[in-house]
Amino acid sequence: MARVYNFSAGPAILPEEVLQEAAVEMLDYKGSGMSVMEMSHRSKVFESIIKETEADLRKLMSIPDNYKVLFLQGGASQQFAMIPMNLMKNRKAAYIITGEWSKKAYEEGKNYGEVTEVASSADENFSYIPDCSNLDIPEDADYLYMCENNTIYGTKYQKLPDSKGHTLVADVSSCFLSEPVAVSDYGIIYGGVQKNIGPAGVVIVIIREDLIPEECLPGTPTMLKYKTHAKAESLYNTPPAYGIYICGKVFKWLLKKGGLAEMKAYNEKKAAVLYDYLDQSRLFQGNVRKEDRSLMNVTFATGSAELDDMFVKEAKAAGLDNLKGYRTVGGMRASIYNAMPIEGVEKLVEFMKDFEAKHGRP
Ligand SMILES: *Cc1c(COP(=O)(O)O)cnc(C)c1O
Repeated sequence: MARVYNFSAGPAILPEEVLQEAAVEMLDYKGSGMSVMEMSHRSKVFESIIKETEADLRKLMSIPDNYKVLFLQGGASQQFAMIPMNLMKNRKAAYIITGEWSKKAYEEGKNYGEVTEVASSADENFSYIPDCSNLDIPEDADYLYMCENNTIYGTKYQKLPDSKGHTLVADVSSCFLSEPVAVSDYGIIYGGVQKNIGPAGVVIVIIREDLIPEECLPGTPTMLKYKTHAKAESLYNTPPAYGIYICGKVFKWLLKKGGLAEMKAYNEKKAAVLYDYLDQSRLFQGNVRKEDRSLMNVTFATGSAELDDMFVKEAKAAGLDNLKGYRTVGGMRASIYNAMPIEGVEKLVEFMKDFEAKHGRP
């Protein structure tokens, strides 16, 4: 078996223990005589899978009782429309633009009402998080929207914006379960699970109950109403059953590791291995402002597109895969999600040192 260290931004690395367990259960899930892929989502067996998965997530994140957990489809991108369709009572919302994903959400929001950009870091190619301590949010805005960890650029908010009493909506796709959060600080926390949790095809939405409206904007399809899924406990129609099952395994893996505080400590230790090296390297530079660095997505470059290309190719040959940066940033990106062991990051840094010795300035 030749598994590589997979630094992909998403779909991304999963814990090996989880994959092995799933392999063992592939043909016969706990004596049911069938795979989870083959069973009815209305069966007792699946019902217990989804219930336990939700219970474990609630335990991991200490989700208050007045928040619903929804397992949906359509990717994080579908939420860009679903959020305004459900929340835009006044047809107004405020957006903070810190990268491609928040920009896309903002553009989508325009289809439903008056959206205001209240802060942006576009002026420096999204290499920092703007000051959000005193935003000029329209009084009657229905929500303030943010993307908490910017997968493409490698920045993360170290402190939540002051929403001034407005509902805070956060896309946490690439930092989901990477550290503890206070769920009650948010109206909605949501993310596609294919970054830091499970296989593509599942979106988890954690929403405060009173935000689930009886009436959405006119014309909202049944499937895009939070109410539909909240009332049916995520079983209104066939859910992404196998993906939910794998998410459940990852939740158990995280609980076994000690929960999110432990994960945060491990993630900090892991990221420090790479950032400490970048800070003293004469060849590689980190792309973002130090105080806004992400623990999950680390972006860096040599300053020469040719050397960057060579680095990505040679790293792949050495078993360090998917290090190419996103096209709007260039250079490299190492996604070091929960499931990436510290050995993978250490091996990457060793490889970078060798590369620097060969190609760096003396
Ligand atoms: C990947 C990503 C998305 C898009 O997710 P899809 O599931 O492909 O729609 C949105 N937001 C963030 C922060 C992401 O990293």
